Amino acid sequence: MGYIRTAKNEFGPCLFCDKSHMGKDEDDLVVHRGENAYILMNLYPYNNGHLMVVPYDHEKNFDDLQPDTQVEMMNLMSQAMGVLRESLDADGFNFGANFGEVAGAGIKEHLHLHLVPRWIGDTNFMPVMGHTKVMVDGLKETRKQLAEAFAKNGK
Ligand SMILES: [Zn+2]
Repeated sequence: MGYIRTAKNEFGPCLFCDKSHMGKDEDDLVVHRGENAYILMNLYPYNNGHLMVVPYDHEKNFDDLQPDTQVEMMNLMSQAMGVLRESLDADGFNFGANFGEVAGAGIKEHLHLHLVPRWIGDTNFMPVMGHTKVMVDGLKETRKQLAEAFAKNGK
């Protein structure tokens, strides 16, 4: 299976191009697919519910994307906030992006927008999260819940 998981494009392997392929959304923690962009959970989240909106196009800069894609990403972000409020009782959000290495992007070759739900009193909670098996199981459980919520909310 390993070789299938490494998607190639003209720039070499790319995590977000890889996960943009259909068929393994559960393992890839993808919660929703739009026409030009998709939404997945961060495997190393700031908290449970940390989502990323990612275009299918392998672009570094937001201004290199087609206008249709830019608009859809904002609409997906808006929809995601509704889903997180409804499904996880989010009280607020951190919404942002790092474009380019100098700005602190982890994966600088393929842009992505972050949406981190926040809850009143959650500041002490965040350092507890680790990369444990329990965490991944928790993420998969949350993925199922969010994917169902997105499906229910339409496109
Ligand atoms: Zn890519």
